[in-house]
Amino acid sequence: MAVTPTVMVVEDEPPQREVLRYNLEAAGYRVVMASSGDEAVILAAEEAPDVVILDWMLPGISGIEVCRQLRARREMADTPIIMLSARGEEADRVRGLDTGADDYVVKPYAVAELLARVKAQLRRARPSAVGQIIRHGDIELDAARHRVSRGGTEIHLGPTEFRLLALLIEHPGRVWTRDQLLDRVWGRDVYVDTRTVDVHVGRLRKALRAGGGGDPIRTVRGAGYALD
Ligand code: CA
Repeated sequence: MAVTPTVMVVEDEPPQREVLRYNLEAAGYRVVMASSGDEAVILAAEEAPDVVILDWMLPGISGIEVCRQLRARREMADTPIIMLSARGEEADRVRGLDTGADDYVVKPYAVAELLARVKAQLRRARPSAVGQIIRHGDIELDAARHRVSRGGTEIHLGPTEFRLLALLIEHPGRVWTRDQLLDRVWGRDVYVDTRTVDVHVGRLRKALRAGGGGDPIRTVRGAGYALD
């Protein structure tokens, strides 16, 4: 696996939060938790989750409203959102999907089924996490074989540069801050200076340009990096 996918769980009931955290971590995901809609909106901006599991009934702003607010942000436009609800009415299901949710699961649900749905959404949105080959322009990344090529020529990358490229190539055009890259590529518990990010981005650029192609990584002043 290239970069551990992050799942954001938005749920206010402590027992359900713990069941989800335990099972998602056991399945190999990085989990971040929000217990209210307001917290979810802030956390989504900080964590850039790969999948969101969103309870409908929340204190303060409802899951439906959170869904609408997340969808309105450019960087969250394609992030899969799975809504959880105690409501089983067809009209509610349609309303949930209308607001921009990708899937809708009725409580009480089987955890195994929810995990299968998370994986299905990732397969679509984060192909490298499930071992598929990703192409962007003339760059090809094969996560299962840990290989990268550009214009058909194999490129040798260190493990950190590989993980950086895997993250960037799955979200072309998206601007990542150095802190977000540190969290996602190095892990949140590792002490690394943000300048380390610049060093590794520099190495990745050099490797990608070794065959003579242009620089596909854009530096966004005051913000971070994006792959174009
Ligand atoms: Ca709830």
